[in-house]
Amino acid sequence: MLQYLLSHAGHLLSGADGRCFVTPEQVAALATEALYPVAEGIGLAVVAEPPADFAVPLELRAQLAQADQGGYELFARGAQLAVWHDQHRFCGRCGTPLRHHDADLAKQCPACGLTLYPRISPCIIVLVVKGEQALLAHNARFAGRWFSTLAGFVESGESVERAVAREVQEEVGIEIANVRYFRSQPWPFPHSLMLGFFADYAAGELTPDGVEIDEAGWFSRDALPDLPPPFSISRQLIEAWMAGPV
Ligand SMILES: [Zn+2]
Repeated sequence: MLQYLLSHAGHLLSGADGRCFVTPEQVAALATEALYPVAEGIGLAVVAEPPADFAVPLELRAQLAQADQGGYELFARGAQLAVWHDQHRFCGRCGTPLRHHDADLAKQCPACGLTLYPRISPCIIVLVVKGEQALLAHNARFAGRWFSTLAGFVESGESVERAVAREVQEEVGIEIANVRYFRSQPWPFPHSLMLGFFADYAAGELTPDGVEIDEAGWFSRDALPDLPPPFSISRQLIEAWMAGPV
């Protein structure tokens, strides 16, 4: 490895001066719980105690917002591995402390052999289109008054296509058709994989569920509300639609 990210207690760390990487020599002087590969020449060192000059939790959203594609994936992967290492310390079947897997990027139980891979939670995210308008919604958890696409976790045993239709039905009460894939994005808050889609409105009246979604509407390209940050796949779905037919 040429350089390392550091993490402790499930968070990436940075220096007081904003530095995000340390050298292999610096890592060698620290007590590490684990070392993971992140990208070519870049590793993640999970440390038992943050070094005094590198103990600031990394501002992950700010880091992702300014990163290029390679940088985005690097920090997303490092953050997801840091959370996984922190949250998967014991075997879920027999409770024995886990060890590193000999061959894979995984952990293994030395007592019963159960293997655990880094956790990834698939989520659908969808921009529903109706003529010249698109469906945007305000989530009750949003801190500000901005509107986004609909999203939700894929459930056990469910196809991704089914999840798209179910989430739209549950959150705003309408039916959709022509679900089509856009692109995906790792979303390290904390371990999601966003699967982006477009879909067409088919039937029903917009009825926000009042729990997750407190407001939803059809918006035209020339009258959009405040939108999610540019680095998010939600914003990329909206911008692809703004650019032309989707
Ligand atoms: Zn076990």
